[in-house]
Amino acid sequence: MRRHRIAAMGGDGIGPEVIAAGCRVLDAVAEADGGFTFTTETFDWGSAMYRATGRMMPADGLDRLKDFDAIFFGAVGAPDIPDHITLWELRLAICQGFDQYANVRPTRLLPGVVGPLREDLGRRIDWVIVRENSEGEYSGVGGRAHRGLPIEVGMDVAVFTRAGVERICRYACELAMTRPRKKLTVVTKSNAQRHGLVMWDEVCAEVTAQFPELTVDKMLVDAMTARMVMKPETIDTVVATNLHADILSDLASALAGSLGIGATGNIDPTRKRPSMFEPIHGSAFDITGKGIANPLGSFWTASMMLEHLGEGDAARRLMRAVEAVTARGEVLTPDLGGRATTAEVTDAVIAALKGAN
Ligand code: ATP
Ligand code: MG
Repeated sequence: MRRHRIAAMGGDGIGPEVIAAGCRVLDAVAEADGGFTFTTETFDWGSAMYRATGRMMPADGLDRLKDFDAIFFGAVGAPDIPDHITLWELRLAICQGFDQYANVRPTRLLPGVVGPLREDLGRRIDWVIVRENSEGEYSGVGGRAHRGLPIEVGMDVAVFTRAGVERICRYACELAMTRPRKKLTVVTKSNAQRHGLVMWDEVCAEVTAQFPELTVDKMLVDAMTARMVMKPETIDTVVATNLHADILSDLASALAGSLGIGATGNIDPTRKRPSMFEPIHGSAFDITGKGIANPLGSFWTASMMLEHLGEGDAARRLMRAVEAVTARGEVLTPDLGGRATTAEVTDAVIAALKGAN
Protein backbone atom coordinates (compact mmCIF):
# COMPACT_ATOMS: atom_id res chain seq x y z
CA MET A 1 0.00 0.00 0.00
CA ARG A 2 1.45 3.37 -1.02
CA ARG A 3 1.25 5.98 1.70
CA HIS A 4 1.24 9.73 1.04
CA ARG A 5 1.84 12.28 3.80
CA ILE A 6 -0.16 15.46 3.27
CA ALA A 7 0.09 18.75 5.17
CA ALA A 8 -3.38 20.33 5.00
CA MET A 9 -3.27 24.08 5.60
CA GLY A 10 -6.59 25.84 5.17
CA GLY A 11 -5.31 29.32 6.05
CA ASP A 12 -7.86 32.15 6.08
CA GLY A 13 -11.46 32.84 5.09
CA ILE A 14 -13.04 30.04 3.07
CA GLY A 15 -9.65 28.29 2.86
CA PRO A 16 -10.32 25.90 5.79
CA GLU A 17 -13.82 25.13 4.44
CA VAL A 18 -12.68 24.13 0.97
CA ILE A 19 -9.60 22.26 2.22
CA ALA A 20 -11.75 20.22 4.64
CA ALA A 21 -14.03 19.34 1.71
CA GLY A 22 -10.95 18.47 -0.37
CA CYS A 23 -9.65 16.15 2.37
CA ARG A 24 -13.00 14.31 2.42
CA VAL A 25 -12.80 13.83 -1.32
CA LEU A 26 -9.16 12.68 -1.14
CA ASP A 27 -10.11 9.99 1.36
CA ALA A 28 -12.94 8.87 -0.94
CA VAL A 29 -10.53 8.73 -3.90
CA ALA A 30 -8.08 6.62 -1.90
CA GLU A 31 -10.86 4.28 -0.87
CA ALA A 32 -12.09 3.93 -4.46
CA ASP A 33 -8.56 3.29 -5.72
CA GLY A 34 -7.47 0.83 -3.06
CA GLY A 35 -3.75 1.18 -3.84
CA PHE A 36 -2.81 4.04 -1.54
CA THR A 37 -3.77 5.91 1.61
CA PHE A 38 -3.24 9.38 2.98
CA THR A 39 -1.94 10.44 6.35
CA THR A 40 -3.09 14.00 6.69
CA GLU A 41 -1.90 16.44 9.31
CA THR A 42 -3.76 19.75 9.67
CA PHE A 43 -1.94 23.06 10.27
CA ASP A 44 -3.91 26.08 11.49
CA TRP A 45 -1.35 28.68 10.40
CA GLY A 46 -2.53 31.99 8.98
CA SER A 47 -3.99 35.32 10.02
CA ALA A 48 -5.54 34.09 13.29
CA MET A 49 -2.12 32.88 14.40
CA TYR A 50 -0.67 36.24 13.34
CA ARG A 51 -3.15 38.15 15.52
CA ALA A 52 -2.36 35.91 18.48
CA THR A 53 1.42 35.56 18.11
CA GLY A 54 2.66 38.11 15.55
CA ARG A 55 3.69 35.30 13.20
CA MET A 56 1.89 33.77 10.20
CA MET A 57 3.63 30.48 10.91
CA PRO A 58 5.90 29.16 13.66
CA ALA A 59 9.62 29.97 13.43
CA ASP A 60 10.39 26.33 12.63
CA GLY A 61 7.50 26.15 10.12
CA LEU A 62 9.48 25.02 7.10
CA ASP A 63 11.24 22.39 9.16
CA ARG A 64 7.88 20.97 10.23
CA LEU A 65 6.68 20.78 6.62
CA LYS A 66 9.80 19.50 4.89
CA ASP A 67 9.11 15.78 5.22
CA PHE A 68 5.58 15.86 3.81
CA ASP A 69 4.97 14.58 0.29
CA ALA A 70 2.78 17.59 -0.55
CA ILE A 71 1.12 20.63 0.98
CA PHE A 72 -2.62 21.14 0.39
CA PHE A 73 -3.09 24.88 0.84
CA GLY A 74 -6.31 26.95 1.09
CA ALA A 75 -5.96 30.73 0.96
CA VAL A 76 -4.36 33.56 2.90
CA GLY A 77 -5.32 37.16 3.26
CA ALA A 78 -7.34 39.18 5.75
CA PRO A 79 -8.78 42.68 5.56
CA ASP A 80 -6.93 43.87 8.69
CA ILE A 81 -3.44 42.56 7.81
CA PRO A 82 -1.41 43.84 4.85
CA ASP A 83 -0.65 41.47 1.98
CA HIS A 84 3.08 41.86 2.47
CA ILE A 85 2.62 40.04 5.77
CA THR A 86 -0.05 37.44 4.95
CA LEU A 87 1.36 36.59 1.56
CA TRP A 88 5.08 36.95 2.13
CA GLU A 89 5.30 35.40 5.56
CA LEU A 90 3.34 32.27 4.79
CA ARG A 91 2.60 31.41 1.17
CA LEU A 92 5.70 32.96 -0.37
CA ALA A 93 7.87 31.83 2.54
CA ILE A 94 6.89 28.26 1.66
CA CYS A 95 7.29 28.75 -2.12
CA GLN A 96 10.74 30.27 -1.67
CA GLY A 97 11.85 28.10 1.22
CA PHE A 98 11.15 24.95 -0.77
CA ASP A 99 12.28 26.44 -4.08
CA GLN A 100 8.94 25.67 -5.74
CA TYR A 101 10.12 27.39 -8.87
CA ALA A 102 7.36 26.31 -11.24
CA ASN A 103 3.83 27.60 -10.75
CA VAL A 104 1.50 25.57 -12.92
CA ARG A 105 -2.05 26.57 -13.81
CA PRO A 106 -4.13 24.21 -15.93
CA THR A 107 -7.10 25.94 -17.51
CA ARG A 108 -10.08 24.29 -19.14
CA LEU A 109 -13.74 25.11 -19.32
CA LEU A 110 -15.45 22.29 -17.45
CA PRO A 111 -18.58 20.84 -19.04
CA GLY A 112 -21.70 22.77 -18.11
CA VAL A 113 -19.76 25.85 -16.99
CA VAL A 114 -20.46 28.95 -19.05
CA GLY A 115 -17.45 31.15 -19.74
CA PRO A 116 -17.28 34.50 -21.52
CA LEU A 117 -15.79 33.12 -24.77
CA ARG A 118 -17.85 32.31 -27.89
CA GLU A 119 -17.49 28.54 -28.14
CA ASP A 120 -19.71 28.61 -31.22
CA LEU A 121 -16.84 30.42 -32.96
CA GLY A 122 -14.48 27.62 -31.98
CA ARG A 123 -12.96 29.54 -29.10
CA ARG A 124 -12.00 26.64 -26.85
CA ILE A 125 -9.59 26.60 -23.92
CA ASP A 126 -7.25 23.78 -23.00
CA TRP A 127 -4.12 25.35 -21.60
CA VAL A 128 -1.50 25.01 -18.99
CA ILE A 129 0.36 28.14 -17.98
CA VAL A 130 3.80 27.71 -16.44
CA ARG A 131 4.86 30.69 -14.36
CA GLU A 132 8.43 31.29 -13.24
CA ASN A 133 7.90 31.36 -9.49
CA SER A 134 11.23 32.28 -7.93
CA GLU A 135 12.78 35.34 -9.52
CA GLY A 136 12.14 37.89 -12.26
CA GLU A 137 10.05 40.93 -11.48
CA TYR A 138 9.12 39.66 -8.00
CA SER A 139 12.65 39.11 -6.75
CA GLY A 140 12.24 41.70 -4.04
CA VAL A 141 15.41 43.47 -5.18
CA GLY A 142 15.26 47.24 -5.29
CA GLY A 143 14.75 50.10 -2.93
CA ARG A 144 13.49 53.57 -2.16
CA ALA A 145 15.52 56.73 -1.86
CA HIS A 146 14.88 60.42 -1.15
CA ARG A 147 11.59 59.60 0.57
CA GLY A 148 9.04 62.36 0.41
CA LEU A 149 11.14 64.59 -1.78
CA PRO A 150 10.24 65.58 -5.33
CA ILE A 151 13.20 63.48 -6.51
CA GLU A 152 12.03 60.35 -4.66
CA VAL A 153 12.72 57.10 -6.49
CA GLY A 154 11.34 53.59 -6.07
CA MET A 155 12.95 50.72 -7.90
CA ASP A 156 12.02 47.10 -8.45
CA VAL A 157 14.78 45.30 -10.23
CA ALA A 158 13.73 42.32 -12.31
CA VAL A 159 16.38 39.70 -11.76
CA PHE A 160 16.69 36.90 -14.29
CA THR A 161 19.40 34.30 -13.93
CA ARG A 162 20.50 31.98 -16.71
CA ALA A 163 19.98 29.01 -14.39
CA GLY A 164 16.52 30.24 -13.39
CA VAL A 165 15.34 30.74 -16.97
CA GLU A 166 16.90 27.46 -18.07
CA ARG A 167 15.13 25.38 -15.45
CA ILE A 168 11.66 26.91 -15.92
CA CYS A 169 11.87 26.61 -19.69
CA ARG A 170 13.02 23.00 -19.45
CA TYR A 171 10.16 22.20 -17.07
CA ALA A 172 7.66 23.79 -19.48
CA CYS A 173 9.09 21.84 -22.44
CA GLU A 174 8.86 18.56 -20.55
CA LEU A 175 5.29 19.33 -19.48
CA ALA A 176 4.27 20.33 -23.02
CA MET A 177 5.68 17.01 -24.29
CA THR A 178 3.30 15.08 -22.01
CA ARG A 179 0.29 16.76 -23.65
CA PRO A 180 -1.29 15.62 -26.91
CA ARG A 181 -0.56 18.76 -28.93
CA LYS A 182 3.12 19.04 -27.90
CA LYS A 183 3.03 22.77 -28.32
CA LEU A 184 4.72 25.55 -26.35
CA THR A 185 4.35 29.31 -26.50
CA VAL A 186 7.23 31.27 -24.98
CA VAL A 187 5.95 34.64 -23.79
CA THR A 188 8.29 37.60 -23.69
CA LYS A 189 8.51 41.37 -23.93
CA SER A 190 12.04 41.56 -25.22
CA ASN A 191 11.25 44.40 -27.58
CA ALA A 192 10.85 46.67 -24.55
CA GLN A 193 12.65 44.91 -21.67
CA ARG A 194 15.96 44.72 -23.40
CA HIS A 195 18.28 43.01 -21.00
CA GLY A 196 16.67 40.34 -18.87
CA LEU A 197 14.10 39.28 -21.43
CA VAL A 198 16.58 39.24 -24.28
CA MET A 199 18.48 36.70 -22.21
CA TRP A 200 15.15 34.93 -21.51
CA ASP A 201 14.61 34.60 -25.26
CA GLU A 202 18.14 33.33 -25.90
CA VAL A 203 18.04 30.75 -23.11
CA CYS A 204 14.53 29.57 -24.10
CA ALA A 205 15.70 29.20 -27.71
CA GLU A 206 18.59 27.01 -26.55
CA VAL A 207 16.41 24.85 -24.33
CA THR A 208 13.50 24.41 -26.75
CA ALA A 209 15.97 23.37 -29.49
CA GLN A 210 16.62 20.26 -27.39
CA PHE A 211 12.97 19.20 -27.90
CA PRO A 212 12.71 18.65 -31.67
CA GLU A 213 9.20 17.16 -31.45
CA LEU A 214 7.84 20.26 -29.78
CA THR A 215 6.14 23.02 -31.81
CA VAL A 216 7.39 26.28 -30.32
CA ASP A 217 6.28 29.83 -30.93
CA LYS A 218 7.16 33.14 -29.31
CA MET A 219 4.70 35.90 -28.38
CA LEU A 220 4.94 39.34 -26.86
CA VAL A 221 2.87 39.40 -23.69
CA ASP A 222 0.52 42.17 -24.85
CA ALA A 223 -0.31 40.34 -28.07
CA MET A 224 -0.69 37.16 -26.04
CA THR A 225 -3.62 38.59 -24.04
CA ALA A 226 -5.48 39.28 -27.28
CA ARG A 227 -4.69 35.81 -28.63
CA MET A 228 -6.02 34.20 -25.43
CA VAL A 229 -9.37 35.86 -26.07
CA MET A 230 -9.57 35.74 -29.87
CA LYS A 231 -7.78 32.50 -30.77
CA PRO A 232 -7.64 30.48 -27.56
CA GLU A 233 -7.79 27.17 -29.45
CA THR A 234 -4.32 27.85 -30.91
CA ILE A 235 -2.68 27.81 -27.44
CA ASP A 236 -1.59 24.78 -25.43
CA THR A 237 1.34 25.16 -22.98
CA VAL A 238 2.62 28.62 -22.11
CA VAL A 239 5.77 29.66 -20.28
CA ALA A 240 6.21 33.21 -18.98
CA THR A 241 7.97 35.25 -16.33
CA ASN A 242 6.69 35.70 -12.80
CA LEU A 243 4.83 38.98 -13.52
CA HIS A 244 3.65 38.20 -17.03
CA ALA A 245 2.32 34.78 -16.10
CA ASP A 246 0.69 36.19 -12.97
CA ILE A 247 -1.41 38.43 -15.21
CA LEU A 248 -1.99 35.81 -17.91
CA SER A 249 -3.16 33.26 -15.37
CA ASP A 250 -5.75 35.65 -13.92
CA LEU A 251 -7.03 36.25 -17.44
CA ALA A 252 -7.08 32.49 -17.95
CA SER A 253 -9.13 31.84 -14.85
CA ALA A 254 -11.65 34.52 -15.79
CA LEU A 255 -12.00 32.93 -19.23
CA ALA A 256 -12.59 29.56 -17.55
CA GLY A 257 -15.79 30.82 -15.99
CA SER A 258 -15.35 31.05 -12.21
CA LEU A 259 -12.74 31.82 -9.63
CA GLY A 260 -14.13 28.97 -7.56
CA ILE A 261 -12.98 26.24 -9.95
CA GLY A 262 -9.33 26.71 -10.86
CA ALA A 263 -6.25 25.19 -9.27
CA THR A 264 -2.53 25.84 -9.15
CA GLY A 265 0.55 23.86 -8.21
CA ASN A 266 3.72 25.39 -6.83
CA ILE A 267 6.14 22.71 -7.85
CA ASP A 268 9.67 21.77 -6.93
CA PRO A 269 10.39 19.63 -10.00
CA THR A 270 13.51 18.19 -8.33
CA ARG A 271 11.18 16.59 -5.75
CA LYS A 272 13.72 17.22 -3.03
CA ARG A 273 11.12 19.23 -1.11
CA PRO A 274 7.32 19.15 -0.91
CA SER A 275 5.32 20.94 -3.59
CA MET A 276 2.27 22.99 -2.66
CA PHE A 277 -1.14 22.86 -4.32
CA GLU A 278 -3.87 25.48 -3.91
CA PRO A 279 -7.14 26.67 -5.41
CA ILE A 280 -6.73 29.93 -7.30
CA HIS A 281 -9.31 31.87 -5.32
CA GLY A 282 -8.50 33.97 -2.28
CA SER A 283 -10.00 33.99 1.20
CA ALA A 284 -13.37 35.48 0.09
CA PHE A 285 -14.53 36.82 3.47
CA ASP A 286 -17.88 37.86 1.99
CA ILE A 287 -18.98 34.21 1.97
CA THR A 288 -16.85 32.81 4.80
CA GLY A 289 -18.78 30.71 7.31
CA LYS A 290 -21.89 30.51 5.16
CA GLY A 291 -21.20 27.01 3.90
CA ILE A 292 -21.57 28.04 0.26
CA ALA A 293 -17.95 28.24 -0.91
CA ASN A 294 -17.44 26.37 -4.14
CA PRO A 295 -15.19 23.39 -3.32
CA LEU A 296 -14.51 22.40 -6.95
CA GLY A 297 -11.28 24.44 -7.03
CA SER A 298 -10.11 22.46 -4.04
CA PHE A 299 -11.01 19.18 -5.79
CA TRP A 300 -9.13 20.17 -8.95
CA THR A 301 -6.23 21.07 -6.65
CA ALA A 302 -6.48 17.63 -5.05
CA SER A 303 -6.38 16.06 -8.51
CA MET A 304 -3.18 17.98 -9.40
CA MET A 305 -1.67 16.85 -6.13
CA LEU A 306 -2.57 13.21 -6.85
CA GLU A 307 -0.91 13.46 -10.26
CA HIS A 308 2.23 14.85 -8.62
CA LEU A 309 2.21 12.00 -6.10
CA GLY A 310 2.25 9.51 -8.96
CA GLU A 311 -1.44 8.60 -8.66
CA GLY A 312 -2.39 9.57 -12.21
CA ASP A 313 -5.32 7.14 -12.48
CA ALA A 314 -6.87 8.45 -9.28
CA ALA A 315 -6.26 12.05 -10.41
CA ARG A 316 -8.15 11.46 -13.66
CA ARG A 317 -10.93 9.59 -11.86
CA LEU A 318 -11.42 12.57 -9.54
CA MET A 319 -11.63 15.02 -12.46
CA ARG A 320 -14.15 12.75 -14.21
CA ALA A 321 -16.29 12.88 -11.05
CA VAL A 322 -16.01 16.69 -10.87
CA GLU A 323 -16.93 16.96 -14.56
CA ALA A 324 -19.90 14.61 -14.12
CA VAL A 325 -21.25 16.95 -11.44
CA THR A 326 -20.70 20.16 -13.45
CA ALA A 327 -22.11 18.60 -16.62
CA ARG A 328 -25.30 17.53 -14.82
CA GLY A 329 -25.60 21.08 -13.47
CA GLU A 330 -27.96 20.15 -10.64
CA VAL A 331 -25.68 20.43 -7.62
CA LEU A 332 -23.73 23.67 -7.94
CA THR A 333 -22.86 26.48 -5.52
CA PRO A 334 -24.30 30.01 -6.03
CA ASP A 335 -21.18 31.34 -7.84
CA LEU A 336 -22.04 28.87 -10.64
CA GLY A 337 -25.70 29.79 -10.60
CA GLY A 338 -26.84 26.97 -8.31
CA ARG A 339 -28.24 26.74 -4.78
CA ALA A 340 -26.18 23.93 -3.30
CA THR A 341 -23.91 24.12 -0.26
CA THR A 342 -20.23 23.19 -0.07
CA ALA A 343 -21.23 19.95 1.68
CA GLU A 344 -23.82 19.04 -0.97
CA VAL A 345 -21.35 19.55 -3.82
CA THR A 346 -18.80 17.47 -1.90
CA ASP A 347 -21.35 14.67 -1.41
CA ALA A 348 -22.25 14.80 -5.11
CA VAL A 349 -18.61 14.46 -6.18
CA ILE A 350 -18.05 11.59 -3.75
CA ALA A 351 -21.16 9.85 -5.09
CA ALA A 352 -19.93 10.36 -8.66
CA LEU A 353 -16.54 8.92 -7.65
CA LYS A 354 -18.16 5.77 -6.34
CA GLY A 355 -20.33 5.49 -9.44
CA ALA A 356 -17.38 6.03 -11.80
CA ASN A 357 -15.43 2.93 -10.76
P1 ATP B 1 -7.90 37.61 -1.60
O1 ATP B 1 -7.72 38.98 -1.07
O2 ATP B 1 -7.17 36.56 -0.82
O3 ATP B 1 -7.74 37.52 -3.09
P2 ATP B 1 -10.69 37.88 -1.87
O4 ATP B 1 -11.60 38.04 -0.70
O5 ATP B 1 -10.39 39.01 -2.76
O6 ATP B 1 -9.40 37.22 -1.32
P3 ATP B 1 -11.07 36.26 -4.18
O7 ATP B 1 -10.69 34.87 -4.19
O8 ATP B 1 -10.21 37.21 -4.90
O9 ATP B 1 -11.33 36.70 -2.69
O10 ATP B 1 -12.54 36.25 -4.74
C1 ATP B 1 -13.30 37.36 -5.12
C2 ATP B 1 -14.77 37.00 -4.93
O11 ATP B 1 -15.12 35.84 -5.70
C3 ATP B 1 -15.05 36.59 -3.48
O12 ATP B 1 -15.29 37.70 -2.71
C4 ATP B 1 -16.21 35.65 -3.62
O13 ATP B 1 -17.42 36.35 -3.64
C5 ATP B 1 -15.97 34.98 -4.97
N1 ATP B 1 -15.33 33.66 -4.77
C6 ATP B 1 -14.02 33.39 -4.73
N2 ATP B 1 -13.79 32.08 -4.51
C7 ATP B 1 -14.98 31.50 -4.40
C8 ATP B 1 -15.42 30.16 -4.14
N3 ATP B 1 -14.57 29.15 -3.96
N4 ATP B 1 -16.74 29.95 -4.07
C9 ATP B 1 -17.62 30.93 -4.26
N5 ATP B 1 -17.28 32.21 -4.50
C10 ATP B 1 -15.98 32.51 -4.56
MG1 MG C 1 -8.91 38.92 -4.51
